[in-house]
Amino acid sequence: MAPRIVVLGRQGAGKGTQCARLVAEFGIVHVSTGDMLRAAVAAGTPLGQQAEAIMKAGGLVSDDIMNGIVAERLAEADVMEQGVLLDGFPRTSGQADALAAILDDQGVELDAAINIDVAIEEVTARMMARGREDDTEEAIAERLSLYEAQTAPLLEWFAGRGKLVVIDGLGEEDEVFARVREALGI
Ligand code: AMP
Repeated sequence: MAPRIVVLGRQGAGKGTQCARLVAEFGIVHVSTGDMLRAAVAAGTPLGQQAEAIMKAGGLVSDDIMNGIVAERLAEADVMEQGVLLDGFPRTSGQADALAAILDDQGVELDAAINIDVAIEEVTARMMARGREDDTEEAIAERLSLYEAQTAPLLEWFAGRGKLVVIDGLGEEDEVFARVREALGI
């Protein structure tokens, strides 16, 4: 089993938790483009130097750069053998097209794009409750509206290809994980 899964969901929807469960249970490789970029910034690589200001400003690193990074990562042996949970990519329709081309070149298919769905009011309440310094109501609203603007078209992109699976993200972690497993048939 080497599933290829895109994981979508608002900040605070429990995406990270569900990815960790899938990694622990099935050994699927978690590829988070945000984590990769943060590591590059921390290491001071040329990519990191380019990405740092963009990330600080809340912008998007260019499709060309992102598509190249992801194409390289998806060609590595662990992903080929164990499958991948793509988290944070694609974020634009150009990236979605690139992903389709990468998988096509590898002769494999995307299994599903799962959207862990939690309403805006609920994720706002969750983020306010965790009380992090950057979680002011205003900052949360800004990040969520960016997500809405960036991701809504992608939901349609995946739905149009018969790949979108919407998972109700309300409830206990175990309940949501059971829904994820059922949706993926694993
Ligand atoms: P994340 O942890 O997924 O929220 O990503 C943190 C930041 O990294 C984002 O705000 C973007 O600046 C950048 N980033 C991560 N993934 C991508 C992507 N697929 N395309 C463009 N920029 C990205």
